[in-house]
Amino acid sequence: MNNAQLETLKKKYVARGAATATPQSADTALNAEIWDADGTRWIDFAGGIGVLNLGHRHPKIVAAVKAQLDKLMHTAAGVMSHPLYVELSQKLCELTPVRGPERKALLMNSGAEAVENAIKIARAATGRSGVITFDGAFHGRTMMTMALTGKVVPYKGDFGPMPGDVYRAPYPNEKHGISEEQSLNAIRTLFKTDIPASRTAAIILEPVQGEGGFYIASPSFLTALRELCDEHGILLIADEVQSGFARTGKLFAMEHSGVEADIMTMAKSLANGMPLSAVVGTAEVMDASGPGSLGGTYGGNALSCAAALAVIDVIREENILERSTQMGELLAARFAKWEERFAHVAHPRNQGSMAAFELVDADGKPDPAATAAVCAKAKELGLILLSCGFYSNTIRILVPLTVEPEVLEEGLAIIEQALESLA
Ligand code: PMP
Repeated sequence: MNNAQLETLKKKYVARGAATATPQSADTALNAEIWDADGTRWIDFAGGIGVLNLGHRHPKIVAAVKAQLDKLMHTAAGVMSHPLYVELSQKLCELTPVRGPERKALLMNSGAEAVENAIKIARAATGRSGVITFDGAFHGRTMMTMALTGKVVPYKGDFGPMPGDVYRAPYPNEKHGISEEQSLNAIRTLFKTDIPASRTAAIILEPVQGEGGFYIASPSFLTALRELCDEHGILLIADEVQSGFARTGKLFAMEHSGVEADIMTMAKSLANGMPLSAVVGTAEVMDASGPGSLGGTYGGNALSCAAALAVIDVIREENILERSTQMGELLAARFAKWEERFAHVAHPRNQGSMAAFELVDADGKPDPAATAAVCAKAKELGLILLSCGFYSNTIRILVPLTVEPEVLEEGLAIIEQALESLA
């Protein structure tokens, strides 16, 4: 079937809410390139929204999954565990910078499931119910994670009422007029106006916001947040579903600050395309709820665990952290040139290769229409490019960290052409 036939069937049989950004359908893919059902080649700067930090079909990951297929596909970890579940849990506990000394892990399927469980665990561990989250946060599309998510359109508008005991503070964002002190004060105000600190179980944040616009929480903010949590016995949850697994030049973005959360959530590039997520936290916190209280049929599926173990090896063997840092430097240099050259381009930023810039109008205000136009033009020219942001005016780069230099260059040249077309 070609793209047009598939699109017709999609319109007829796939729910409208599950819309896709392109009318094409992917047929095959390798590293940072996709060939669609018509045989047309695309450069992929979306990487399955940050899932493919090691590229489409990395040979070592494919080989690990194929080998596992011949041994064991699935048990339901709640019925019988398997070696890879345990081995991966151990590795994640060793690698994840949450408070120790002992750490434990829980394996689930999706980012949203990891966040749901992080909240359950925090509530069980503290005996409190309140959760504080931030403007522009994205934590998922299930009921609780949707409540935590800080953007109505397109995520929340049709689905209320939201679960209760969720409170929101502004995410620090100097570019858009919110200082770190304002953000911290807003939390202190919540303790007076909405939820006492003594009833607050957790504060959850993305150390680099993903869907919210690649805004980076500074080490000083994270340190202050940690102190605030400690002052009141509140748990700090770092959602690294998008920022984790080498995107920022470290395995986890929290490592840039040295601040340790109590619980961390991860998914996406953890298994580089296989569905897998994890919650890793201080052992005492993770063990707060009783046997049988956490889990799910597919969480920690053997094929996904095999992929994740291969991901951890590849990150080390292929110097992926260094490559992420270097790519970040290259992107930052290119964005700086664009900022000089194009009046629309503003606020470039990056932590490693988690890199983005904004499009603004003549008054310096967010310009979502220009942003949509750049993504549309890029698509016309064969590049899959994603926007994001609280103001829908951010262009983000989530190209595989393994992209060939010439493919990366080709993609950046297309963005440049798309920016030229705005003038
Ligand atoms: N948290 C963050 C920070 C995310 O970026 C996402 C997905 N974009 C999620 C949670 C939800 O992950 P999933 O779509 O796998 O449920």
